Amino acid sequence: MTLLFLSLAVSTLAGCGGTARNPEAGGKLRITATTGMIADAVSEVGGEFVEVTGLMGPGIDPHLYKASQGDVRKLDDADVIFYNGLHLEGKMGEIFEQMEKSKPVVAVASYLKEEQLITDPSAAGGATHDPHIWFDVKLWMSAVEVIRDTLAEKDPAHADQYQANAEAYLKKMEELDAYAKEQIAAIPANSRILVTAHDAFGYFGRAYGIEVKGLQGINTMSEYGSKDVSELRDFLVENGIKAVFVESSVSTKSIESVIEGARELGHEVKIGGQLFSDAMGDAGTEEGTYLGMVRHNVDTIVKSLK
Ligand SMILES: [Zn+2]
Repeated sequence: MTLLFLSLAVSTLAGCGGTARNPEAGGKLRITATTGMIADAVSEVGGEFVEVTGLMGPGIDPHLYKASQGDVRKLDDADVIFYNGLHLEGKMGEIFEQMEKSKPVVAVASYLKEEQLITDPSAAGGATHDPHIWFDVKLWMSAVEVIRDTLAEKDPAHADQYQANAEAYLKKMEELDAYAKEQIAAIPANSRILVTAHDAFGYFGRAYGIEVKGLQGINTMSEYGSKDVSELRDFLVENGIKAVFVESSVSTKSIESVIEGARELGHEVKIGGQLFSDAMGDAGTEEGTYLGMVRHNVDTIVKSLK
């Protein structure tokens, strides 16, 4: 009787351990992440002990993203799945639920408290939050801590290395945060207005002291109409705004109609450059990393508005 119970307990435990792979035996933890920013953070923290697969490449809009058959395989093969959460990956909820039955599926936003988040005013009932947390570098540091703790728990043999890697990465993020604050503050106060295609920069604006206005709401699924275009056009004219910004993962058509409208009223607005909002740049370029992407955005904004 005792023996039977014991063997049952052991087999249950083995089941909980998940996969047959053993990181101590030289195998790497297989991680699948949704956005490039998350995949980058996992690579930084996991180093040589993880194999990272990112689902959403350059130019991909996570709000509208649907998992392909190939993605399902990548999620299936993973030991751990990381996603942003706060409904950024709005169309992937069902597949995450499915995957949760067999492995940890972890939202990197999970350490953030309600009071740290921006409420999405366009959401019904004010129930949901702005998911673009990576643009406040301080908030994104908490995402790195979620990744660090999850990897250490899943692979305790390398917990010390994950801790050390995270520490080094967090230090670079601290420096980037200070850089962004200092650079944005150098823009004259009355020019410190950031106009973009969709409202991805709310946390950026709050953290670094710049007013933010997007044509489309926080979610690119929301529709915008001629009223939004004319309101934003009037805002540009009234405030004498010289530059607006396009985003790598959002069509430029919407923002161009605003520029055209302002021109008809005799106010010239130029495109200040391309910002990386919901996706990073190409691998191998500066913007292909999280740190480089934020730095590129800061430098592009400062150059056009200063
Ligand atoms: Zn977005």
